Amino acid sequence: MGIFFSKNKLILGIITGVILGGIVGSYFPSIGVKSQIIGDLFLNALKMIVLPLIIVSITLSIMKVGNLGSIGLKTIIYYVITTSISVAIGIFVVTAINPGVGNEAFTGNLPDFVKSKEGFSITDVLKQISTPNLFKSAYEFQILPLIIASILFGIAFGKMGKENQLIIDFFELSDKAIMKIVHWIIALTPIGIFGLIAGKIGAAGGGAEVLNIAMQLGKYVTSVIIGLFIHGFIILPLILLLFGKRNPIEYFKSMSEALLTAFSTASSSATLPLTMKNVIEDAKVSPKVGKFVLPLGATMNMDGTALYEAVAVIFIAQSYGIDLSVAELILVFITASLAAVGAAGIPEAGLITMVLVLQAVGLPIEGIGLILAIDWLLDRFRTTINVWGDSIGAAVIDNIEKT
Ligand code: ASP
Repeated sequence: MGIFFSKNKLILGIITGVILGGIVGSYFPSIGVKSQIIGDLFLNALKMIVLPLIIVSITLSIMKVGNLGSIGLKTIIYYVITTSISVAIGIFVVTAINPGVGNEAFTGNLPDFVKSKEGFSITDVLKQISTPNLFKSAYEFQILPLIIASILFGIAFGKMGKENQLIIDFFELSDKAIMKIVHWIIALTPIGIFGLIAGKIGAAGGGAEVLNIAMQLGKYVTSVIIGLFIHGFIILPLILLLFGKRNPIEYFKSMSEALLTAFSTASSSATLPLTMKNVIEDAKVSPKVGKFVLPLGATMNMDGTALYEAVAVIFIAQSYGIDLSVAELILVFITASLAAVGAAGIPEAGLITMVLVLQAVGLPIEGIGLILAIDWLLDRFRTTINVWGDSIGAAVIDNIEKT
C-alpha cells in the first residue's frame, strides 16, 4: 500500500488525476501547459530513484539467486517468445488493414534527435551492452551497461562465502531505504500524473486538436491500437494464465498504478519503481525474481514497441506505394524485434531505433515524418503494453522457478 493512502484510494486518485488532466489540457490548454512543471517534478523524482533502484535490486537478487544461468536463460526465452509474437501480430494487423494504401506520402520535418541517428545500425544496439565509463552511462541514463555491471558485482559478491553477509546486509538495508523513498514518491502520483497529462494535451493545442491529428491518421492509429489490444488483452493474459498460473484480472488490478503511470509518462524506466512495487508488494511475486526480471525487462523487453515499429514501418512503405516482399517482411520482423531491444525505456525512443528497421528494407528515414505528429500519443499505449509484458514476465518466471 501507499505510504499515505490505501491502494484503492491511490488508484482512485490516479484516475482522477488522469481525468482532470485530460479536461484541463483539452479545454484550458494554456493552464495545461503551465501544469507541466508539476509533472516534470514528479518525473524527475521517479528518474532520480531509478538508477539506485536498478543497481541495488539487481546486485542483491543476483547475490541471492547465486545461479544466474537458470533464471537468466528463462527470462531471455520469455522475452524472445513474447516479443516475436507481438511483432507477428503487428505485421498481421497492418497487412490486413493496409492503413497506408492510398495515403499520401510526404516528406515531413524530422526532429534533430532522429536526424542525428541516420545510419543507426545493429552495431549501435550491440555497443549499448558495454561502456568504458559507468558514470557517463549513468549520466546519460543508459541503463544496460549498469545492469551488466550490477550482474557482475552480484556474481562476485555471491562468491565471497562468509564475508558476504556484511555486503548482503548493506544491500538489503539500501533496498529497504530505496523502497521507502519509492513509496513517498508514489504518494505524489495522482498530482504528478495530472501535470503530465494536462501539460502534454495542452502543448498539443488542446483535446480537439489531438483528436483532429488522430483522425487524420485514423487507420494507422487504429492498426497500432488493435495490435496492442490483441497482444495486451488476449495473448499476454493467456500466457499469464497458462505459464504464470495467475488470474489475469486480479493481476491487472494489482498492476494498475504502474500501468497508469506508464501511460502518463511514456517511459518504462521512469515507471520501474511503481512496476516493482506492484509486482513484488501487491501481486506477491518473489522479490528474488522481480528484482532481476523487472529492471532487465524495462530496458530490453518491449513488446509494445516491437509491434509498433513493425506497424509503423509497413505503414510508411504502403504510403510510399512500396509493396514489401515476404523476405522483406521477415527482415522487418527481425529488425523490429532488435529495435525494441535497443530502444531505451524513455519517451519516443522507439522512433530512433526505427531508423534501423527502415534502413533494413531500404526505406527513407524521412518516412518517420509521416507518423511523427501522433507518435507522442501512441508512445503512451505501447509503453503501457511494454510494462504489462514485463510484469507478466516476472509472474511467469516466478512460477517456473517455483515448480
Ligand atoms: N517509450 C517507450 C518505453 O519507455 C519506448 C518507445 O517505444 O519509445 O517503453
